[in-house]
Amino acid sequence: MFINDTIAAISTPMGEGGIGIIRISGKDALQVAEKIIRLRSHKAVGEITSHTVHYGFVCDPMTDEKVDEVLAVFMQNPRSYTAEDVFEIHCHGGLIPIKRIYDLTLKSGARPAEPGEFTKRAFLNGRIDLSQAEAVIDLIRAKTDAGSRAALGQLEGRLSTQIKQVRDTLLEMIAYAEAAIDFPEEDIEEMTAAQIAERIAKSNLVLEHLLDTASSGRVLREGLHTVIVGKPNVGKSSLLNALLGENRAIVTDIPGTTRDIIEEYINIKGIPLRIVDTAGVRETEDVIEKIGVEKARELFQQADLILMVLDMSRPLDIEDHKLLLELTNRPAVILLNKADLPVLLDEQQVRSIVPDKPILLISIAENRGMALLEEQILSMVYQGTVVGGEGTIVTNARHQQAIQNAHSSLVEAVQSIDSKMPLDCIVVDLRAAWESLGQISGDTLGEDIIDQIFSTFCIGK
Ligand code: GDP
Repeated sequence: MFINDTIAAISTPMGEGGIGIIRISGKDALQVAEKIIRLRSHKAVGEITSHTVHYGFVCDPMTDEKVDEVLAVFMQNPRSYTAEDVFEIHCHGGLIPIKRIYDLTLKSGARPAEPGEFTKRAFLNGRIDLSQAEAVIDLIRAKTDAGSRAALGQLEGRLSTQIKQVRDTLLEMIAYAEAAIDFPEEDIEEMTAAQIAERIAKSNLVLEHLLDTASSGRVLREGLHTVIVGKPNVGKSSLLNALLGENRAIVTDIPGTTRDIIEEYINIKGIPLRIVDTAGVRETEDVIEKIGVEKARELFQQADLILMVLDMSRPLDIEDHKLLLELTNRPAVILLNKADLPVLLDEQQVRSIVPDKPILLISIAENRGMALLEEQILSMVYQGTVVGGEGTIVTNARHQQAIQNAHSSLVEAVQSIDSKMPLDCIVVDLRAAWESLGQISGDTLGEDIIDQIFSTFCIGK
């Protein structure tokens, strides 16, 4: 399916840069470019070979005035990002030339692209599925190397391939069951049911394995929501600065909020720790002092990781005790800081309050124990499952939910088989699972949801 109109966008960030790229896609991409580009070779733009680079000028067709010196690239369909005819104009990276060339493409027959529209076309034209399209934006927004590797794996279709295999198996089973329904001798049904149960078990194993990767996958994509807590003066700010100092990764602005939120990402061996607003950490500590345990509880519920700092040079008091109790069932690491000073804190007492939590002795001042802390965070995120470069990782909550739903349907199918329900009932569950998994590739997803997914992309992508 081809969408007929031709779109254009500035595909590089606005600002001063070495180069800027204006991208045009659609059936008239070449004609639009032809109107505004004069090649040095005097060749007509309409005659250039696909996937070759040409030097020339963009000129205003009304006045013939030169606007900028450019390189022009034509990518004929289907060998392009969108699988349509794509024309890229590489100009100097100043705001004015980029904007003027973009305006000229619009005057010459293109319309402004919507956010994510290039990638959406790649999806609608069948070059990539929805999970691959989503990986494009994940790759752009990746906070760490590990995150970008996971996104690239997804972009290359690793997740799609596994999901497709399971869906194909399900479809075969549905066909098989339906055939058996048409021959209603009971023994055929029973035999079929037993075989189906066996294959469902295999499919479910694949789904379970994918679900196992989802919690670390989500962290790779979204960052580990981290909260640092403790009484005043225990060393929370020092800890934050020590972590930031060595590992500051990326500061991103999240547009669309009333006040743009600044997120700081700290890269701990590939795990992005998301500490929303450095000032927020300090607010947090005030909040806990002022509002107390109630608020702390709420904060702890939202956190993926709690770093609780205690001062070893002071004995444990009632406040510490209360906070420690709040950590029950939460992912937390207890840091006994200031290990360089004379010890007044009873470590055993702490251990008896939170017997299942890792307790690390550190000295931020002497930079002791920080490597252990990083190891600890890493092992908590991966929980023993090492996610290497080769494995498929589910990073997206939408995909996780779809896999979870498919898994539940298959579990129900097995239960129906076990309780000797008729095959018709089993087919219903198999279909439900097949549909759930189709939401990952976008096959069984409504247009409105697809639009919503692409609307979170940037313009020009
Ligand atoms: P916060 O109030 O919890 O944020 O604590 P700060 O990070 O501001 O630290 C309070 C004081 O403890 C500062 O004077 C730090 O220099 C000091 N401090 C932090 N970590 C250590 C440590 O490991 N050893 C020693 N001796 N002092 C530390």
